[in-house]
Amino acid sequence: MMNINIEDGIERSIKHLADPRVQSSIKIQSTIRQSLRDSLVRRGFMEISPTLLSPLTDPLNHPVYDPCITVYGEKMWLTKSMIFHKQIAVQQLKKIFIMSPNIRLETEEKASSGRHLFEFTQIDIEELDASREVMMDLAEVMINEALAGVRSANGAELAFLSRACRPFPRPFNKIAFQDAVANYGEKFEERISKEATAPVWIVDIPLKAREFYDREYPDRPGILRDMDLLWPEGYQEALSGGEREFQYEKIMERIRKKEQAEEQFRWFTELAKRGIRMSSGFGIGIERFTRYVCGLEHVGLTNPFPKIPGTVSL
Ligand code: ASP
Ligand code: MG
Repeated sequence: MMNINIEDGIERSIKHLADPRVQSSIKIQSTIRQSLRDSLVRRGFMEISPTLLSPLTDPLNHPVYDPCITVYGEKMWLTKSMIFHKQIAVQQLKKIFIMSPNIRLETEEKASSGRHLFEFTQIDIEELDASREVMMDLAEVMINEALAGVRSANGAELAFLSRACRPFPRPFNKIAFQDAVANYGEKFEERISKEATAPVWIVDIPLKAREFYDREYPDRPGILRDMDLLWPEGYQEALSGGEREFQYEKIMERIRKKEQAEEQFRWFTELAKRGIRMSSGFGIGIERFTRYVCGLEHVGLTNPFPKIPGTVSL
């Protein structure tokens, strides 16, 4: 039994697609996607296919409903992120990226955050033997190239949305997680982003605020060699990433520290036991990038068929 009104749903969908803000942002997003791809290909990265269903996916660091299905008698999950697939693929393929559709069944109250869709695309990037700093540099360059690309290709849309869209001076500012909390309190992301007029890096995010897979500083227990980037003007998270833990014993220790079921990660941990090399990477949310560039109140306005938490739609 369906308890949604399909007629109303279709009506909402038609209205949404006819909204000039939606049409402008989708046009801009097309430029952003193309530009991010071009930036990576020019630097020797290869695009690989997305994985949609797997016995292994990102545990995330916040609660979501669990999209697990039984396939041929075994459990498989819809992809929350390809973090482990990236780490595994890069061992052979060296420099990769994926336009990766992710399903994260966020809880209903996230509907009004302006930042959450339960289906979205991230451009997920990974490089073998690279440091966090190399990846941060790459992220800044890619973002600036995409902003310049939109500026030259989408003048009419930017004018309609009253947005400027200029590349930012590099390097972007950095603040350590600990200092961010001390100076701005627990809601530092919101505060720093609101105050900022250019993107700001948050670095050294501790294990308690992260998934188990990012690498710990060898001499700073509990502090990770990772990063988030915040958009200015209150748009908050642009990307997250880091160096990855690659030593089997350390990975197992972290899974235990995060009180996670070891069983869920065996496809990764058994492989790590055979020996893998360090890699680094990050993922940029395409819809959030578009939302920021377009200055929109909700990220749903950047997607033709937005999946708003708590709502069933086309
Ligand atoms: N793809 C990862 C995520 O969704 C980001 C990363 O590369 O660390 O959390
Ligand atoms: Mg993550």
